Amino acid sequence: MQPSAALNRIKPSPTLAITSRVIELKAQGVDVIGLGAGEPDFDTPDFIKEAGIKAIRDGKTKYTNVDGTPELKDAVILKFKRDNDLTYARNQITINAGGKHTLFNAMVATLDAGDEVVIPAPYWVSYPDVVLFANGTPVFVAAGAEQNYKLRPEQLEAAITPRTKWVILNSPSNPTGAAYSRDELKALGAVLERHPHVWIFADDMYEHIVFDDFEFTTIAQVCPSLYERTLTANGCSKAYAMTGWRIGFAGGAPWLIKAMSKLQSQSTSNPCSIAQAASVAALTEDQGFLKDHAALFQGRRDLIVAMLNQIPGITCPTPEGAFYVYPEISGLIGKTTPNGQVIATDEDFVGYLLDDAKVAAVQGAAFGLSPAMRISYATSDTVLREAGARIQAACAALR
Ligand code: PLP
Repeated sequence: MQPSAALNRIKPSPTLAITSRVIELKAQGVDVIGLGAGEPDFDTPDFIKEAGIKAIRDGKTKYTNVDGTPELKDAVILKFKRDNDLTYARNQITINAGGKHTLFNAMVATLDAGDEVVIPAPYWVSYPDVVLFANGTPVFVAAGAEQNYKLRPEQLEAAITPRTKWVILNSPSNPTGAAYSRDELKALGAVLERHPHVWIFADDMYEHIVFDDFEFTTIAQVCPSLYERTLTANGCSKAYAMTGWRIGFAGGAPWLIKAMSKLQSQSTSNPCSIAQAASVAALTEDQGFLKDHAALFQGRRDLIVAMLNQIPGITCPTPEGAFYVYPEISGLIGKTTPNGQVIATDEDFVGYLLDDAKVAAVQGAAFGLSPAMRISYATSDTVLREAGARIQAACAALR
């Protein structure tokens, strides 16, 4: 028996691999600082946990509707209206086992061989692999630090062909934290309005983690003419610190939602009933803590951006949101470590950081734009300061 061709087109998630490596090193007693993980460092709020516990006690422990309970669909409808001024009916809402599952369902349910998906780079690691698994063709468009990691309208125009089925927009972005303003989204929307065969996968997973009074908007909201062909995807993982509960959701066209549900009915069935009940509480009860968390992240962003920009050879743009920075490290390429190893790639550099500074970051190559690295600052100020100092010392030791 051999793995299938579809499986051979993909690779294991490189970010999850770094997390596993950090856990391994810590178990061996190594004092390693993990800045690789893509999850908030704080606990799921108590009122959400309580809702989960109550769901167990109330016997909400059985199968539910395939693509979500009516209660959670209504909570998601309320969320889209409250936060994004988007109106959806129940048959336009899908609930999935995490945001990654939403992406998977959407791509597998719609792509045929040769269909193209425009993916701005750097990108979240799962976009290309899920597209490849679904037999589609990722079309990458480089949006580097010099353009604040944002796709420009003319680049989008140039990337669209008659085979383009989707364009993926992720704002705020994993791995860069860059977020599109209302005007930037409108400009991209103007291009998409000229290409009615192209659908938009709007990944808003980091919606609530934005800084400096940045106004979050999503494309179906600012370009109502694109509403019919936009899948607005979001989830509980990042905003509500619920990565382990596995709840993602999306709003979109009824036929697409039905197609995704058909696939889900023959794969995972419904998302966890208990997690769905807890997500109702997350989405409908007090949202006040979201701003407190964002303020906390903003302080950490300022800390790490400042420390990284003090290093000759590193340029770190200031992101609008999420909890990642994506410093560009071209000034370090070609340097030599104290052990005599030449840093030829960003993978060499993060390997050096892990071995010598005991700091784990993820190489830019994993996200399709090099030389750079992704640092997740979802950790305490103290740990972040120590990590910054270690990176500074490691860079100072390069010749
Ligand atoms: N979208 C983006 C941009 C992400 O970074 C992630 C997680 O890292 C997800 C979606 C999916 O999150 P989950 O599957 O944990 O809900």
